[in-house]
Amino acid sequence: MKLEKTRVEVANCAKTFPDGTRALLSTNLVIEPGEVIALLGPSGCGKTTLLRLLAGLETTDDGGRISFAEQDVTHRPAEKRGVGMVFQNYALFPQMNVEANIAYGLTIRGLPAQQRKSIVGELIDLVRLNGLEKKRPAELSGGQRQRVALARAVAVRPRILLLDEPLAALDAKLKESLRIELAELLRRLGITAVHVTHDQQEALAIADRLAVMHAGSIVQIGDGESIYRKPTHPFVAQFLGRVNTLRRDAQACADGVLRLGGQSMPCPEALRSHTTLMVRPEDLQLGPMRAGYAQARIDQRVFLGDRVQFKVSTEGQDTLLVEMHGHSPFQAGSTVGLWVDPDRLLPTAQLPSQAG
Ligand code: ATP
Repeated sequence: MKLEKTRVEVANCAKTFPDGTRALLSTNLVIEPGEVIALLGPSGCGKTTLLRLLAGLETTDDGGRISFAEQDVTHRPAEKRGVGMVFQNYALFPQMNVEANIAYGLTIRGLPAQQRKSIVGELIDLVRLNGLEKKRPAELSGGQRQRVALARAVAVRPRILLLDEPLAALDAKLKESLRIELAELLRRLGITAVHVTHDQQEALAIADRLAVMHAGSIVQIGDGESIYRKPTHPFVAQFLGRVNTLRRDAQACADGVLRLGGQSMPCPEALRSHTTLMVRPEDLQLGPMRAGYAQARIDQRVFLGDRVQFKVSTEGQDTLLVEMHGHSPFQAGSTVGLWVDPDRLLPTAQLPSQAG
């Protein structure tokens, strides 16, 4: 089945609801053909509103424009926009079998039975549901249901696919395996897709690029690794992963160092004047006390299977969170050396918060 790879452009779209709520501030976003974008952010940041604008379920405030493959669809109603949707928990029809669920959109469009059969057959092959055609949703695993929902959404050859927190209601273990499967399926379909989630791991696993949203704006957009490593907004650093805040006094800034537990550590040139810096828990290291290490005390040690998490106190700073992968011999109550990788220090404020 040949699916269109549509370029999507959102230009100056904003949404103010009749009660005055400004759910989305003026937003610009370009989604490349075949790209999977995750709209990621906490509850109330405007991600569903942006998704609904793309779907044609909400209208943009004056001046906004949405185009699919250079075609203006701003005033086109939802049913004429050519969007496929996958909802939370998949919303499959429980009384219908796999075939009938997938064929649903084709049936209501009045497609002749022969054509329907051929499209459904092709999709069943594509999402690997062969042999399960006559089963009902209740008889399927979570992964199989997800595949039915995707096949149903793309059966009508939508121009873009919108996924509204499809994994939100699932338990953690199932979620983890299904997000890998979903990522793989979306690549195989090759369709342009927008995935709304407040789950960072899910966004990282599924999307080519993440648009991190905060208070009605996209504050940063980019691939997962660059957003995680180079957040351009304190909110992004805190929302995607965890960070410690490190304080520096004027003298430390003047000396170009970071003072930690009585030690002066080098501070990169670009961060010299920043009085607060951030560092991720995995970029702090604990080791036996030695030259260049700060003295720290372990207040708490939590074994998490693949990693060990520590809360440590060190002179002049608030409690710091440190994470070490694999085995770590250090116990609560002990005094250890603490080291920070200067290349991993992040500024707390850099660029203006608006991406678009
Ligand atoms: P969630 O993850 O909880 O779904 P979200 O990021 O998707 O959150 P939106 O649903 O886009 O957020 O809502 C953004 C803001 O707009 C919220 O403050 C919400 O209360 C408000 N809002 C949404 N729909 C309406 C509406 N129809 N009328 C008034 N306010 C609305």
